[in-house]
Amino acid sequence: MNIWSLLFLPFVCGLPFHHEVTSIPVEKQLHQYTEQQGIIKKVQTDHRWIAFTFDDGPDPQETNEILDVLKQYHAKATFFVVGEQATKYPDIVRREVSEGHELANHTYSHTDFKHLSKEEVKEEIVKSENEILSITGQQTILFRPPGGYCNDLIMKTAEQLGYTVILWTWYQDSKDWSKPGVHQIVNRVVSNAHSGDIVLFHDRISGKSQTVKALKVILPELQEQGYSFVTISKLLGSNQIRYHIGQN
Ligand SMILES: [Zn+2]
Repeated sequence: MNIWSLLFLPFVCGLPFHHEVTSIPVEKQLHQYTEQQGIIKKVQTDHRWIAFTFDDGPDPQETNEILDVLKQYHAKATFFVVGEQATKYPDIVRREVSEGHELANHTYSHTDFKHLSKEEVKEEIVKSENEILSITGQQTILFRPPGGYCNDLIMKTAEQLGYTVILWTWYQDSKDWSKPGVHQIVNRVVSNAHSGDIVLFHDRISGKSQTVKALKVILPELQEQGYSFVTISKLLGSNQIRYHIGQN
């Protein structure tokens, strides 16, 4: 069974999240799978912490607006930066760092990784890494492939370059890219929130994004519920079990 068939099994079966697919609860299946594959999708933590991630930026308008909202709620997040965008908007990348957020690698050109050779995958990661390093002086250590697509070649290449692969908690895909309506985005994230979740948002969406408006509701609601918003590295650091790529 490959990664996607396992992840989508609950949908295929038409079962709501908390129902059991087999005798093992979904949450535990996910945890076991994550451990086996070395891909991080959720972190076990005793803290009431949640990690927001923003992919595909920076974007001159969207990212700055997101940074303003995060600041208002003292929230820290992880930005999966596209190297090409960082080249265009280095000041925004510097702002992300200066306001305490984490930068992570989301390739240089956000090309489809499905048919790339090992050398091409390597080049996409390294080129983005160098760009972020030259702008901020920071070495990225977390990687998310475009569309979350993973295979052995991508995993191995990322591992050899010293990266940990981060996807997102499967029930915490905000689907903000599809612009389903602010209420839908809010409801999806807030009603599913659990400690250790990794939530997927985007800070570069073509057309009128609903992400900022949704964040203005999500952040205070989750804060009210006692959640703090932390970077992926901080979330990983709170876990006694350390995950690495390839480790069982
Ligand atoms: Zn992306």
